[in-house]
Amino acid sequence: MGESRNHPVAGVDLACCEECLAGGVDGVILRICASCGHVGCAEGSPNDHAAEHYAETDHPIATVIGSERMSGWSYPDARPV
Ligand SMILES: [Zn+2]
Ligand SMILES: [Zn+2]
Repeated sequence: MGESRNHPVAGVDLACCEECLAGGVDGVILRICASCGHVGCAEGSPNDHAAEHYAETDHPIATVIGSERMSGWSYPDARPV
């Protein structure tokens, strides 16, 4: 999981976690990184790639997408923002 990810934000498909799709998992809650636009799964995902992205990059804020209420999450504070 140390490979570089240089996908342009404009090209990100907001409907999926790339890493989960690669592993055949779909339909999870997603968060998009406020710092770089990385999309990762969270909240009940077996893989939790959004948290993994924070661990790798120290990008602190991610916003939940794919739900009616877009809410931010602060990883350092472990609370909504
Ligand atoms: Zn994932
Ligand atoms: Zn990021």
